[in-house]
Amino acid sequence: RIGFVMGKFVPLREAVIPVMDRGFLFGDGVYEVTAVIEGRLVDNDHHLRRLDRSLAEIGIANPFSIEKWTGVETELMRRNELRNGLIYIQVSRGVAERAFQYKDGLEPTVVMFPQFNRVQSNPVIKTGGRIITVPDLRWARRDIKSTSLLAQVMAKHAVKQAGVNEAWMLDGDEITEGASSTAFIVSASNELITRNLSQDILPGITRRTIIEIAKRHGLTIVERPFSKADVLCATEVFYTSASTIAVPVIEMDGVSVGGGAPGPVFRSLYDAYLQDVMQLPAI
Ligand code: PLP
Repeated sequence: RIGFVMGKFVPLREAVIPVMDRGFLFGDGVYEVTAVIEGRLVDNDHHLRRLDRSLAEIGIANPFSIEKWTGVETELMRRNELRNGLIYIQVSRGVAERAFQYKDGLEPTVVMFPQFNRVQSNPVIKTGGRIITVPDLRWARRDIKSTSLLAQVMAKHAVKQAGVNEAWMLDGDEITEGASSTAFIVSASNELITRNLSQDILPGITRRTIIEIAKRHGLTIVERPFSKADVLCATEVFYTSASTIAVPVIEMDGVSVGGGAPGPVFRSLYDAYLQDVMQLPAI
């Protein structure tokens, strides 16, 4: 695999960054993940705009323009013959003597690499996935896509131990979001419900696109917090992310939810999403 590390295209096995990088020492950085489906970069401008916002929120100057980011992504696809998978981007504040305070003018460290998997042929789409709930142990600025991910590492370890697909995180009685996804339910009155944007959750790019498609389909969308009890009464339950598109949920904490099978709202949104992707020009 060829990565793009500190300005150069290099074999990933050989790539190194200095140990004094603040991303390594403090988790002082942000990241993005964009899906590649049949040679198309999915929702890429939105991902790059969110990267720009994450950087601005922590005071790192964006080292590249949207055109430059897209150019490097495209070149990574070309060099790796990547038609289906993900492109990972990480930007940290840079290399400096270890101190919490940072000097102006550090050169941000950029690391990018591809991951190979077919986002669009996950078998769980047909069978439905299972989730557990875990306490949301993250900090108070979850709208920033920070590389400090210990709470998510712990949540995903619990996912592995439980033998399920994802964890939804609880703030009191309310679901905030998935460990690496946005949470959605369909209510008995056929409303599509997902938590409103705030500093409590990441503004999911797939969330945004799914809401846009749902509006086109004439669904009523309600953006508000919802509880575990709301999930138990929902007719459908699913989560979205760039790396999965969307996954229907049929069980939460060992209890059947969403009618125990992937539902029609999920299916129509998922299919429309893929159809839209295939309208994009391939690279
Ligand atoms: N919420 C969290 C905490 C995430 O880590 C992610 C993606 O990794 C998402 C939501 C989904 O965001 P997106 O649709 O932009 O991939």
